[in-house]
Amino acid sequence: MGQPADASPRRVVVLGSSGSIGTNTLDVIAALPDRFQVHGLAVHRSLAAVVDQAHRFRPAFVCVTDPDAARDLDRDALPPGTRLLAGPDAVREMVTDPAVDVVVAAVVGAAGLTGTWAALEAGKTVALANKETLVVGGPLVMDLAARHGGRILPVDSEHSAIFQALAGSRPEDVRRIVLTASGGPFRGYTPDRLADVTPDDALRHPTWRMGPKISVDSATLMNKALEVIEARWLFGLPADRIDVIIHPESLIHSFVEYVDGSVMAQLSPPDMRLPIQYALTYPERITGPARRLDWSTLGTIHFEAPDRATFPALDLGFEVARVGGTAGAALNAANEAAVGRFLAGDLAFTDIPRACRAAIDQHHFSASPTLEELWATDRRARIEVDKWKNTTRTTTTC
Ligand code: MG
Repeated sequence: MGQPADASPRRVVVLGSSGSIGTNTLDVIAALPDRFQVHGLAVHRSLAAVVDQAHRFRPAFVCVTDPDAARDLDRDALPPGTRLLAGPDAVREMVTDPAVDVVVAAVVGAAGLTGTWAALEAGKTVALANKETLVVGGPLVMDLAARHGGRILPVDSEHSAIFQALAGSRPEDVRRIVLTASGGPFRGYTPDRLADVTPDDALRHPTWRMGPKISVDSATLMNKALEVIEARWLFGLPADRIDVIIHPESLIHSFVEYVDGSVMAQLSPPDMRLPIQYALTYPERITGPARRLDWSTLGTIHFEAPDRATFPALDLGFEVARVGGTAGAALNAANEAAVGRFLAGDLAFTDIPRACRAAIDQHHFSASPTLEELWATDRRARIEVDKWKNTTRTTTTC
């Protein structure tokens, strides 16, 4: 087992290295120093974090995408041999470097599309944690990867589970895929109770520790909606062959049901280091730092149908997975804007899916958009949320 002695470590670029997936990725790399080498790190403006990471991992590049933050960085703070790249085009320069083997795309939101796009265009392998990339531009991104010989390996735990459970199967053998969802912190809430929840309540996820945006998305079930869309493009399956089930313990990360009735599932503790590591070592499996299932203490596991009336975000995901086109860009941008407003205390929790509904309904749908049209849809959807907030009687009292 393990790699041949003459194999050199895979050189990894981590986009979004200060976030939850980024730091978990560096945990995996630190635990497997003979397998991986950090070639580049990118943050938007988390200077202290990236300077600390640069001293630990000695990358060839550090990239700061926010120009104002980059100006504040004292270059002498970086270790000798680490080059600072700054500004919006810096990510492209770093990920297309011929030395790069794998790009971990862990930037949150539509902003993550730029780096993933550049990496795939250069024929790189992308370990994709940024689900918004496929939500916004699924068909274009998959086509780009196919044309340039780039490869997308899923890091999202559900998609990693499906990817693993699909191994060796033929597309015609698959009846459907089922994404599991923890249900988030508000599972079982009534609509009335949900209207009063605060950002602090929403950030308390029962099983996963994650950044603020994805934590709110998990609480609204928008995260699962985005994952349905992600799965639709990643695995090339129509929306009616994708399903969602609530599984509060987050041990079964998703499953594949085959035409003969067999079900293949992937199980492990809720620890992102495992799907990250699998994307980095694929197709190999090696011993790593992720927690393991303790079968002797494993209790009962539960399943229930999602409450689609109380959590309407989920149906938005299936709708967008069905219609495609610009709808994903509209939903994603509206959700980012609405979540930002909710975290700022400017919108009620239950307004998030309502604002997204309005933005989808108001947008000019195009079935086969260009990348430029997707960005235009993104910008308009954010404005639409502002308009919706200002003209609608929202649930919030502030
Ligand atoms: Mg997930």
